[in-house]
Amino acid sequence: MPTPEAGSASGREAVRFPVVDPATGETFDEAPDQQPGELDDVVARAQRAWHGWRADPAARTAALRGAADAVETAGDDLARLLTREQGKPLAESYAEIARTAARLRYFADLAPRTRRIDDGRPVHSEVRWRPLGPVAAIVPWNFPLQLAAAKFAPALAAGNTVVLKPSPFTPLATRMLGSVLATALPEDVLTVVTGREPLGARLASHPGIRHVTFTGSVPTGRAVAGAAAASLARVTLELGGNDAALLLDDVDVDRIADRLFWAAFRNCGQVCMAVKRVYVPARLHAEVVEALAQRAKTVAVGPGLDPGTRLGPVNNARQLARVEQVTEQALADGARAAWGGHRLDGPGYFFAPTILTDVLPGSPVVTEEQFGPVLPVLPYRSLDEAVDAANSTGFGLGGSVWGTDLDQAETVADRLECGTAWINHHAELSLAQPFAGVKDSGVGVAGGPWGLYGNLRPFVVHRPQEV
Ligand code: NAD
Repeated sequence: MPTPEAGSASGREAVRFPVVDPATGETFDEAPDQQPGELDDVVARAQRAWHGWRADPAARTAALRGAADAVETAGDDLARLLTREQGKPLAESYAEIARTAARLRYFADLAPRTRRIDDGRPVHSEVRWRPLGPVAAIVPWNFPLQLAAAKFAPALAAGNTVVLKPSPFTPLATRMLGSVLATALPEDVLTVVTGREPLGARLASHPGIRHVTFTGSVPTGRAVAGAAAASLARVTLELGGNDAALLLDDVDVDRIADRLFWAAFRNCGQVCMAVKRVYVPARLHAEVVEALAQRAKTVAVGPGLDPGTRLGPVNNARQLARVEQVTEQALADGARAAWGGHRLDGPGYFFAPTILTDVLPGSPVVTEEQFGPVLPVLPYRSLDEAVDAANSTGFGLGGSVWGTDLDQAETVADRLECGTAWINHHAELSLAQPFAGVKDSGVGVAGGPWGLYGNLRPFVVHRPQEV
């Protein structure tokens, strides 16, 4: 039951909502359930803070570098809280915090380039870049801090201010991050708001917001695009994925099995760019299933705070039910679990790491995003058939090709309809690269200089050479 709390931003009695530890399934804390009416004040403050923040690029660089240092200094507290509410192993929380700081540093040093238009006319025409204004950043629960940083670091570096809304499943580490960043940034340059819906919907449609940058599921992304249409704010959407890994005939199974397993199961499969389907030449199918099942059988599953844990719980009860439902449907339709296929006994939202074979190609575990620790392994007879199958879903985030002949692998990778294709790896990302899904996986480009320009507008000054 939500409990009242005095002293909200609006001066009214505020409500709080429970935050659950997925390793136990029990509430361990609460967060403020801010109401949509509070957004007017928050956005007005962000608007006022923008005027000072946009004016001094050198001060921004220094502040963002200071923010990165502050995040690292607070690393231990942030990591424990992140693991507590998200579920991931502590080592992965530390890695997420390192990536959060790295993003701040990368964008702190990135500046847009003024460009002269040289088209032969006797004029001096120059393209400069201007920030947009207050930016709304709405993020999911799978990587609450690093995905938030992927939004606020380029937005702030570009000279915008940010209102950041985490998922109600993971509000606490983001609130702590907001307090840490406040030690390095001017007041109201970055504000964290927490609450249940319709807070996100109202933020996306707020008339004072000039860019809505959203990461989450496809259906919510559609709703966000619709909400932002009210104010014609710019929209960047980083949405779901259902990435295929395509193994070639010359693949060295022993050599790649660990990498392939972790590409699917890191963060308990709750990664937009996880491998969610594996296509294997029919003659290698049994060997690949055995290699993956062996790893699923022996991986240490447990609470993220336990030092030996490699695989934590699913983040929330809704997601666990979804993973269970698509797995049960596949099994009912004739699939076989080479390992797993069920929830684990005991408290918490644990699901056994699962390797499925004999799955129907049209099964939801193949065609939809299940976003959990489940991996169907599908045999193919011809490469064309495999490429067609890999490209057959509505998603297009990432994909990978695995084999020994790297030239052949690259030729196949080039045929994948997605934003990033890897060879013998999956989901290895550089801060400097563009990140953009195709089809239902996204709109707009994040990452690298493209992410910076996504938070800027061109401003052209046109000057004749004579009066
Ligand atoms: P979600 O779409 O349910 O929620 C995402 C965020 O939107 C949360 O903060 C949520 O509170 C908020 N929200 C909910 N309804 C809203 C509305 N009507 N208007 C505005 N905001 C609203 O997603 P989730 O379950 O938190 O996260 C999992 C999804 O995120 C998966 O589909 C995954 O693939 C995707 N994801 C994509 C990327 C990427 O970079 N492409 C990265 C990570 C996760």
